Amino acid sequence: MTTITDSVQYLKSIGPKRVKSFENIGIKTIKDLLYFFPTKYLDRTNLLSSAKVLQYVTNGYEGEVTVIGEVLDKEVIRYSKKQILKVRMKDNAGLFDCVWFQGIKYFKNYFKTGEFYALSAKPAVTRYGHLQFVHPDFDKLADKESKAFLHTGKIIPFYKLPKELKSTYIGDLGLRKIINNAVENYADQLTETLPEYLINRNGLLNIVDAIRTVHFPENMDRLKKALERFKFEELFYLELLIALRKSFLKTQLKGYNFKLHSGLIKNFLDRLPFELTRSQLNVLSEIKKDMLSDKPMNRLLQGDVGSGKTVVAIISMLIAVGDGKQTAIMAPTEILANQHFLTIKRMVNNLNIKVGLLIGGQKGSERKQILTGIKNGKINIVVGTHALFEESVEFNDLKLIVIDEQHRFGVIQRAKFIEKGAAPDILVMSATPIPRTLTMTIYGDLDVSVIDKPPSNRKPVKTILRGEKKLPDIYNFIIDKAKEGYQAFIVYPLVSESEKVELKAAETYYSQLKESFLKNLRVGLIHGRMKWDEKEDIMKRFANKEFDVLVSTTVIEVGIDIPDANILVINDAFQFGLSQLHQLRGRVGRSGKQAYCILVTEDRLATKINRFNFNFDYMSRSEIEKHKTLIRLNAMVKYANGFDIAEIDLKLRGPGNIFGLQQSGFPDLKYSDIIKDTSILIKAKEEAFDVVSGDANLSKSENKLIKNILLQNYRDNLKYSHIA
Ligand code: ADP
Ligand code: MG
Repeated sequence: MTTITDSVQYLKSIGPKRVKSFENIGIKTIKDLLYFFPTKYLDRTNLLSSAKVLQYVTNGYEGEVTVIGEVLDKEVIRYSKKQILKVRMKDNAGLFDCVWFQGIKYFKNYFKTGEFYALSAKPAVTRYGHLQFVHPDFDKLADKESKAFLHTGKIIPFYKLPKELKSTYIGDLGLRKIINNAVENYADQLTETLPEYLINRNGLLNIVDAIRTVHFPENMDRLKKALERFKFEELFYLELLIALRKSFLKTQLKGYNFKLHSGLIKNFLDRLPFELTRSQLNVLSEIKKDMLSDKPMNRLLQGDVGSGKTVVAIISMLIAVGDGKQTAIMAPTEILANQHFLTIKRMVNNLNIKVGLLIGGQKGSERKQILTGIKNGKINIVVGTHALFEESVEFNDLKLIVIDEQHRFGVIQRAKFIEKGAAPDILVMSATPIPRTLTMTIYGDLDVSVIDKPPSNRKPVKTILRGEKKLPDIYNFIIDKAKEGYQAFIVYPLVSESEKVELKAAETYYSQLKESFLKNLRVGLIHGRMKWDEKEDIMKRFANKEFDVLVSTTVIEVGIDIPDANILVINDAFQFGLSQLHQLRGRVGRSGKQAYCILVTEDRLATKINRFNFNFDYMSRSEIEKHKTLIRLNAMVKYANGFDIAEIDLKLRGPGNIFGLQQSGFPDLKYSDIIKDTSILIKAKEEAFDVVSGDANLSKSENKLIKNILLQNYRDNLKYSHIA
């Protein structure tokens, strides 16, 4: 008897050539084929004639419908600079139009007169009583197929046909038949991959029903349930891996339990020019608790740009130093490392603490001296870039590592420290607020502390968007404000990867500004091709108010803290990503003064963006994709808060682009979209953490199935667990 683990060759109409083509897309066995899911479904249960649709809409129906029509003709209409593509179509019951405002060329080519298409959208009626679909989803129908369509009444699965299959003459219809055959004859051989109690408790479909339904759903509700099961399963195993790692790090590794010597910290606080906020005190007490326990700390400190994370880090490091231990803080760039070095040195001045800086570009003799200080323990606080964790660096007694702005690092690096043997406490600071869905996944093995409010003296940065022709006004604004002591950053995007071109551009912008609009101000220049000590010098002079304006071609590095720089001009702002823009904006507004962020783009784009209004609820993925730039810049003007920006950024990136899972050693997601499937994610997380908290080795008999599945399907992801 053929079983599901046999080759697909045992299925009807699959010969040796087709076996090869299936193998080329990773489908070897019948079971593999059962897991080849449709990419979408045509809901023909709601397939309506155009006349019916018109009647529905007139009666106030607001849902989606599907109609099938034949293209009669196409027309591009122009009015007041805008273009509209109108595709006129008909079905047996009447005429209707499909309308596009964007992608006109593409759709005009795609829709061919005399061909049949299935269209899905929320229908609209024009004021002349004409039925219209605006930017509908659509499928081109093979003639043959369209007939097959019209006479049945089910939900039709659509499989995205890989070209490997096409080359062996398997078409849409053929593939559907093959899969139908597999489902009918073999699905009931599938064995369950989730424990029964989870299935029952969460009202999930069992594996056989779920697979059957996912291919040939009886109705949309049932399909939703089937998909939910696969999402739950996938998220459950992901959360299980996360929970296992977290438990491993907590229990397997022994950390150092710091003893608190409060004298040093009291001295420090006495000299701090401001009071810590309630938020800062809260996160500090969470950090302190971790540090004083013998479980290694693995904590993520979140806070919007400018919320005051640095001082929290310094106090944590003082706990270590006070106990005679070494601590290191790692920054993503040399310039930022240098800034931390100076800040920390200034802030711990007179406390009898030695601070050392270790970065890439240092001279041999200097480097040697610092390495010695790190090794013999004379240096208490080591500041550096990732150069800190090169082989050649030997620490004396490193017990606390702070990682600043970690999103630039890649999460897996954390694990590297652990591999070095001892388990120092780790505090990761992130300036990009991380949406809850991500803290439950990518960062799920960390404990999280949030600084949820900035110091109270802050005013939100005023953000505006202007066309290039307003640049003279902007320069005048800078000149006016300079009289009140305001300093300004003027940023140009990196124009080229090539050193020469970039240097030339930087110098051109700089000398033009200096000689024309800003000739009465003191203008400085900083760019990515400078050596770090040149950059350091420029930043120092800017901080000392030797310049009113700093022209910068590279991104002014994340984390730079210059309280009097309160104007930021970003040229060609469309070149930057959203979180990058927000990071940049965080360079200003770091004191009590009103700060300004002025985004500059080409005039036409600026007008468009300022008029633009978006609402994700009404936008399809392709529309979001198309309007990315507008959304990004519009969001910057609309939202000052980092959490809002982070949510939008996540939505812009879309489901496939939740980066970080793989880098963190977790599997990528196939079925779920953690932005949309939050409620399933929460349930899966609770169940998974529940399992692990009661049975960290998964050795109880009721967890045997789970353990087997993990070993079968997720072996590569089990590195930091008790299971491997
Ligand atoms: P980030 O969270 O972006 O790293 P920083 O730690 O650089 O922010 O802090 C931004 C600015 O706010 C710094 O100039 C810092 O001295 C100041 N600051 C930090 N905490 C407070 C506070 N409690 N009250 C007033 N100013 C503060
Ligand atoms: Mg910072």
